[in-house]
Amino acid sequence: MRVMKFGGTSVGSVEALRSVKQIVEATTTQVIVVVSALSGVTNRLVEMTRLATAHDTSYEAMLPELVERHRAIIEAVVPRESQGSCMRVVNTFINESLSSSLGLLAANDTLAPEMAEAAADAIVSHGEVLSSAIVACMLPRCKPHFAPAFIHTTDDAEGRIVDWADTERLVLKEFKGDLTRVHVTQGFIAADSRSGVKTTLGRGGSDYTAAILAAILDAEALEIWTDVDGFYDKDPRANPDAKLLPQMTYEQAQALCDAGAKVIYPPTIAPVAQRGIPVWVKNTFNPGAPGTRIGPIPSDSQVISD
Ligand code: ASP
Ligand code: MG
Repeated sequence: MRVMKFGGTSVGSVEALRSVKQIVEATTTQVIVVVSALSGVTNRLVEMTRLATAHDTSYEAMLPELVERHRAIIEAVVPRESQGSCMRVVNTFINESLSSSLGLLAANDTLAPEMAEAAADAIVSHGEVLSSAIVACMLPRCKPHFAPAFIHTTDDAEGRIVDWADTERLVLKEFKGDLTRVHVTQGFIAADSRSGVKTTLGRGGSDYTAAILAAILDAEALEIWTDVDGFYDKDPRANPDAKLLPQMTYEQAQALCDAGAKVIYPPTIAPVAQRGIPVWVKNTFNPGAPGTRIGPIPSDSQVISD
């Protein structure tokens, strides 16, 4: 089994989603597809949260734009016979669930900080719920899952962390022994293990969701599908002579992520490194490119020097 995570740009356009479908359909093993929100959508949801908190109802005008963004994609990538049901899901999530969470913030001056935080998390989590609904409607015979049912968080002195014991138990219950070939779930979104209230793994956290699943289910590989060919030795936008790194160790990848390389969310590396699961960074827009492999270095190949 492999876990394939598709980021915001990989699910953010018709062209990208067509490529996602081909990539998933070309696999021969069991896969868990983990998706981010459509590119830009989480930022919009954060902005809507800000407006609602300030009792500025101009967020209401942003709801139809959100429906339209998802509708245009559904019309292009979802089989015709499923478009109606997929659109009903999108409409319900935006016009009922999202709209009422925003309304709660907008109408209340005196929300306790925990309530306001819970409302904000519930609002931003809609991005992944919507994108995963589209991807699940697009992929024939896949099984959709709801990540907050099995990715659980708790709070320690430093803030929110993954509740590993609870998450491990729930992930095994959700996936172990299920032979469905293609599973689809959301990155980023979770729930508090005690209260069940929606939480998130932090901005960029979809990679982490995928790593958690790969580690607990002992996946043969974690694939991070993004919009660049892999890791480079220098920032390729600023340095035209930057070279793609075909492989690197977990330590090298961790160091680059910690230094601000935007390719992978930093907490992603540790869970897969502990279990020696290889990570591939691949380009949805150039799937034939070899990408970067992170992991134990095969003995017959050369290690990149530090
Ligand atoms: N959609 C979330 C974000 O924009 C999570 C992710 O994309 O990894 O931060
Ligand atoms: Mg990302």
